[in-house]
Amino acid sequence: MKKYILTLDEGTTSARAILFDKNGQLVSVAQHEFKQIYPKPGYVEHNPLEILSAQYSAISEAIILAGASAQDIAAVGITNQRETVIVWDKETGEPIYNGIVWQCRRTSQLCEKLKNDGLEKYISDTTGLKIDAYFSATKIKWILDNVEGARKKSKEGKLLFGTVDTWLMWKLSGGKIYATDTTNASRTMLFNIHDMCWDKRLLEILDIPESMLPKVKSSGDNYGNIEIMGQSLPVCGVAGDQQAALFGQKCFSSGDIKNTYGTGCFLLMNTGNRAVKSNNGLLTTIAATLSNEQPQYALEGSVFIGGAVIQWLRDELKFIKTAAESETAAKKVDSSNGVYIVPAFAGLGAPYWDMYARGTILGLTRGSNKYHIIRAALESIAYQTNDLIKAMENDSGLCVSVLKADGGASKNKLLMQFQSDISDCDVYVPENVEATALGAALLSGLTCGFFESKDTIKALSQKHTVYSANIDTSTRTHFLNGWKKAVNATLSFSEE
Ligand code: ADP
Repeated sequence: MKKYILTLDEGTTSARAILFDKNGQLVSVAQHEFKQIYPKPGYVEHNPLEILSAQYSAISEAIILAGASAQDIAAVGITNQRETVIVWDKETGEPIYNGIVWQCRRTSQLCEKLKNDGLEKYISDTTGLKIDAYFSATKIKWILDNVEGARKKSKEGKLLFGTVDTWLMWKLSGGKIYATDTTNASRTMLFNIHDMCWDKRLLEILDIPESMLPKVKSSGDNYGNIEIMGQSLPVCGVAGDQQAALFGQKCFSSGDIKNTYGTGCFLLMNTGNRAVKSNNGLLTTIAATLSNEQPQYALEGSVFIGGAVIQWLRDELKFIKTAAESETAAKKVDSSNGVYIVPAFAGLGAPYWDMYARGTILGLTRGSNKYHIIRAALESIAYQTNDLIKAMENDSGLCVSVLKADGGASKNKLLMQFQSDISDCDVYVPENVEATALGAALLSGLTCGFFESKDTIKALSQKHTVYSANIDTSTRTHFLNGWKKAVNATLSFSEE
């Protein structure tokens, strides 16, 4: 009897391995960090071999911690930081350059050029994305243009590109698996999300040979076997981190929505088999899909400064010593008393899109104190989230009645209650906030038969806290009007 699904959760700062049992409960977890490499301002890299070794260590530790052996594992699921680019030599298996991390801005100018060449509409129509240095495409081109001999080797079919999922599977299978899933492919800015194939025109524009791109499979599919502690185990689920979290939060139906409250916030709304085009600057992306299903899509939006505003209160203003303290501090006052913070430290994203906007604090009176400001900072996370929820509702025509929350700041009860109050929906926070890793495990388990169906998964008991709206409509309208005015004031202060 196989007892567990093993998830490899390869994040931006660490590689983790997690075992889940038949009830979808977390049994053990191990985590190994790896170095962040900053060769120049705005450049971020990882050593792909260090990622691999961190992942190896985490795997054996998690299995040992559970008192298990690799033979107890039914299948493996993989979830990973999206967009990060690794290019390696097909013959030697050696990376030809460090991994270029999603955060890396080195290709901003190339992205400007693509915009000036009038490619915005084409890229948005085919890939669902806005042209940005985050996505893999321009990073691959950078490696081919800047690493000696790379362009020539790529033309000779001697190089392979992969996001981290692909790299891990290729290495752990001894070069037998060369694949990725549709969610990871959809973040490369090279993948046609409607026809489900690499886009020949974009490959030509960026001079990237198709021979260096992996085969693309459904997120829940049989990828082949990898070697784990001497045992050959099938990989049956792969998804990028945010799509894995959407699946792990069991957002299987159209209109289901989740928000991960981390440093930034990532909202994804399942739109079923409709690829909804946004009028509010949201991205259209592929949601995790099982191989026997029609492709599933999602709308995606992000808040640049989410939990980061709490770090700012802690590190710059020194108002609090820990992020968790923000809750007790905010509770010292009944409300923010008309104070609004718009934390546009790095510009404002969807639905406003003003890269030149900067943060503001408005509504101060002689009676305002640090607790009002702390409360306003927490509330700003909820207001920004609410703006994205409304944009998603407008774009999709769907109505949100439940928001599934996870991520570090979802532990803040005051924030979760305020979110429910202003968005007028129930907010569910699961006790196990490992939604990302669980998502990959569920995909893998459904594919290999470890879990029977999505319905049985939904029925598995999972403890969670529910926050329900507890303010009247006029108070809500009053709060939201204040936020709107604060954003407008911020936008009018913005300078190019
Ligand atoms: P990431 O994965 O982006 O590193 P996490 O999910 O670990 O983020 O969440 C960390 C973020 O959440 C930090 O920005 C921190 O300020 C914020 N955070 C953590 N705990 C709390 C809390 N109790 N209240 C408010 N914010 C919090």
